[in-house]
Amino acid sequence: MSSNVRHHIVIGSGVAGNQAAETLRERDPDSRITMITISRLPFFNRYDLPRVFRGERDWRRFIIYPADYYRRNRIALRRATRVVGVDSTAQTLTLEHKETIHFDSLLVASGAGAYLPEDMSEFRPLLHGFGAFRDAIEVADALPKKGHAILLGGDTIGLDLARTLLDTGHRVTLVAGPYTFWPHEVTPEERPKYVAALQKMGIVVVEAQERGGIAGVEKGAKGLAARRITFGNGSDLSGDVVMPFFGVAPSLDFMLGSGVDIERGLLVSPNLRTTNENIYAAGDVCQIWTDSEHRYCFYHGWKNVRAMGELAARNITGANEPWVPPQDETLRLSKDGKIQSPFWEYQ
Ligand SMILES: Cc1cc2nc3c(=O)[nH]c(=O)nc-3n(C[C@H](O)[C@H](O)[C@H](O)COP(=O)(O)OP(=O)(O)OC[C@H]3O[C@@H](n4cnc5c(N)ncnc54)[C@H](O)[C@@H]3O)c2cc1C
Repeated sequence: MSSNVRHHIVIGSGVAGNQAAETLRERDPDSRITMITISRLPFFNRYDLPRVFRGERDWRRFIIYPADYYRRNRIALRRATRVVGVDSTAQTLTLEHKETIHFDSLLVASGAGAYLPEDMSEFRPLLHGFGAFRDAIEVADALPKKGHAILLGGDTIGLDLARTLLDTGHRVTLVAGPYTFWPHEVTPEERPKYVAALQKMGIVVVEAQERGGIAGVEKGAKGLAARRITFGNGSDLSGDVVMPFFGVAPSLDFMLGSGVDIERGLLVSPNLRTTNENIYAAGDVCQIWTDSEHRYCFYHGWKNVRAMGELAARNITGANEPWVPPQDETLRLSKDGKIQSPFWEYQ
């Protein structure tokens, strides 16, 4: 089909994808824009999921845009649709149901999913995830009033949830380890100060290493709490739910074999272009070349992710601007001695 109208495809309807689609529409009013997402729900902020524990269970109260937003902006939103492959030479992508679509520009904003270390994977059926709206409802149903949640790992997503759980009258125990505070980099010297702050917030902190590491997660015995964690030194810990928070891993299986370079994320130059000139990436899925570090770096957090979506769209539509992170990623302590992550400032 020959047409002068460019077809921009955005994979992902998270913060990066939506910001990009908005900017693409502003800067290329006549173009065709298609947004593809596995998600069944319209766009909502996953940062808001802890609100489920405050009794907000209607997904409509989490949705960011009014129902006719995509129609008004002429963004063809294809929900419940999975991309399974990308051919960078032919400039096509393939959907799970075998349809192939041509693109002039492709923005991969497929985000990242919860990472579970290999040695924990056998316990997956006994763990409660927290990445999707349905997960949040399931864990809220499983956690009784004043119940006990055990968080493993303790990345900043988990610590944010811990604040809400404490606030809503639950008990929280953190089984801490190398992923605690992820993605913040905390030195061994600083760590005791931040762990003390968690305790001050009301979180009971158990260092996994001091107990010989996590040996297993089991169902609790009849009449006792639903879950039991056993440690290498023979001790154990019981709780109503066990939730893993070990950081995230980029969602990019469908890009394997596409011809663009990948390390852990999709590798992009400072203008967010991959090794293919028609394919860009933004958000949690990409690693950006950072001159000062001499390596490709991930930049997490709502402000960073949104800025990446905007920058990618600007560069797809003719600009050639480099990435400058808008967000300081330093973990801080508040005046009252609690930890304060810049990733929690997303309003
Ligand atoms: C529970 C939770 C709480 C969080 N809290 C915070 C917080 O307080 N502060 C903060 O800064 N960050 C927080 N984060 C992290 C934040 O959600 C991410 O940094 C941000 O969502 C990344 O945005 P993104 O647009 O890159 O990807 P995502 O929001 O992950 O969106 C990815 C999109 O890609 C789609 N997709 C993936 N694979 C495919 C495929 N094969 N085909 C089609 N579509 C696909 C998905 O359906 C989804 O629409 C939280 C994350 C979670 C899970």
